[in-house]
Amino acid sequence: MAIGIQTAAYLFASILFILSLGSLSSQESAKRGVFYGIIGMAIAILATVLGEGVAGQVYIIVAIAIASVIGLMLARKVEMTSMPQLVAILHSFVGLAAVLVGFGSYLDPKTQSLHGAAHTIHLVEVFIGIFIGAITFTGSIIAWGKLEGKVRSKALMYPGRHAVNVSLLLACIVLGVLFASADGTNGLIYLYIMTVIASFIGVMLVMAIGGGDMPVVVSMLNSYSGWAASAAGFMLGNDLLIVTGALVGSSGAILSIHMCHAMNRSFFSVILGGFGNAPKGEAKAIEGEVTSLNHEEVAALLKEAKSIVIVPGYGMAVAKAQYPIYDMVQTLQKAGKKVRFAIHPVAGRLPGHMNVLLAEANVPYDIVLEMDEINEDMPNTDVVMVIGANDVVNPSAQDDPASSIYGMPVIEVWKAEKVIIMKRSMSAGYSGEDNPLFYKQNSEMLYGDAKVSVEKLLGFLKG
Ligand code: NDP
Repeated sequence: MAIGIQTAAYLFASILFILSLGSLSSQESAKRGVFYGIIGMAIAILATVLGEGVAGQVYIIVAIAIASVIGLMLARKVEMTSMPQLVAILHSFVGLAAVLVGFGSYLDPKTQSLHGAAHTIHLVEVFIGIFIGAITFTGSIIAWGKLEGKVRSKALMYPGRHAVNVSLLLACIVLGVLFASADGTNGLIYLYIMTVIASFIGVMLVMAIGGGDMPVVVSMLNSYSGWAASAAGFMLGNDLLIVTGALVGSSGAILSIHMCHAMNRSFFSVILGGFGNAPKGEAKAIEGEVTSLNHEEVAALLKEAKSIVIVPGYGMAVAKAQYPIYDMVQTLQKAGKKVRFAIHPVAGRLPGHMNVLLAEANVPYDIVLEMDEINEDMPNTDVVMVIGANDVVNPSAQDDPASSIYGMPVIEVWKAEKVIIMKRSMSAGYSGEDNPLFYKQNSEMLYGDAKVSVEKLLGFLKG
């Protein structure tokens, strides 16, 4: 393929990626956005594989075919609730690719023949690319472990960890200077040492973030993986990779900032491994008694209520309860009740998780409200049904400075007349924090799997 055609194809793919990101910003156009992305990626791959100077196309195509089959199988098998883990592990691949491209590019005889400023710039690209790639690689693996429940989700805090991180960063800068001044491939040893240190920094940065702050980490690693890809683009002299990486990097950073705003966290504190976020003092003692109702009693309460708010959380996703829930909503609406959903920005395990599930069940957007829109209406609500949510309705976030989620805005369900909490047991949410909501006087537990419970309620409501 002639260079001119390849450049035009790259430009067209870049435009499609920008259109894709733009369309993903609203539910109505998101499907179209995914389609633009697929076409853009297909053009990008074809233009690269058929480009000038690329040898062994057959091997590349076979590798792509095998990888596509594996990707397809994984994507088909993965449950919606495990999507964040899949995203995290895919980010780790981008990080690893940047590390491998960095080493390959450093050892490439063509780049060895560069001189003067061009040589120094190339070495800086290699060093920074491997540094970001290694942090992304190990950080994403730890994030995968935390989301999968293989690594403790609570933050790992130890005294002096910030001093250790800063010292490691300084050591990498010194190694960078030594690397840039080494002749030939003599700098390899500095690259190896830096890769080990950066990998360790990646582990420590994500280990230090816990509780409810993981959503920001996931979007932050998304951003890092973009910058790692962009760095790989500089090393390979591939403009499309630079543009695409920058798009992913900047959109991931913007998403992280939005999530930090939603969670009332400082962006820099989160990217620096939870700097200044340590919980303060002793945990507040929980007062009150836990009481529960059975399905028939809850159905009776719903029949009496005029205004009902449903707060879904991760448990709704696990139970796949969105379909019977919408059935129940329609039944209640037919009986003349005002029913709305309240969505917390970090409910579930990925940004927009609840919105996607409710859209899947055809719940109309106009009854799905954001936390800020619904909170002021809570005192006028008769019954709130908390379905598989926990951290996002935890009052400790407002009144217990010792809690790891202190400061995070939450849905103030306890201000309603009655709160029904539907979950299987008294166990804690993702942050590992106990929830005083369960002990409040106007709260009642309804134990059981969310889907089974909603189906039982539906039976009583229809009956
Ligand atoms: P939580 O994880 O706090 O709580 C979910 C609750 O659902 C659990 O307490 C569990 O209790 C219950 N549950 C699980 N399975 C079922 C089931 N089959 N039927 C009924 N209940 C069930 O969820 P929230 O949505 O309230 O909060 C999300 C948390 O995840 C926040 O801490 C957030 O920071 C974090 N997070 C969010 C991400 C995002 O981007 N949205 C990404 C990463 C983390 P029990 O076992 O007793 O049933």
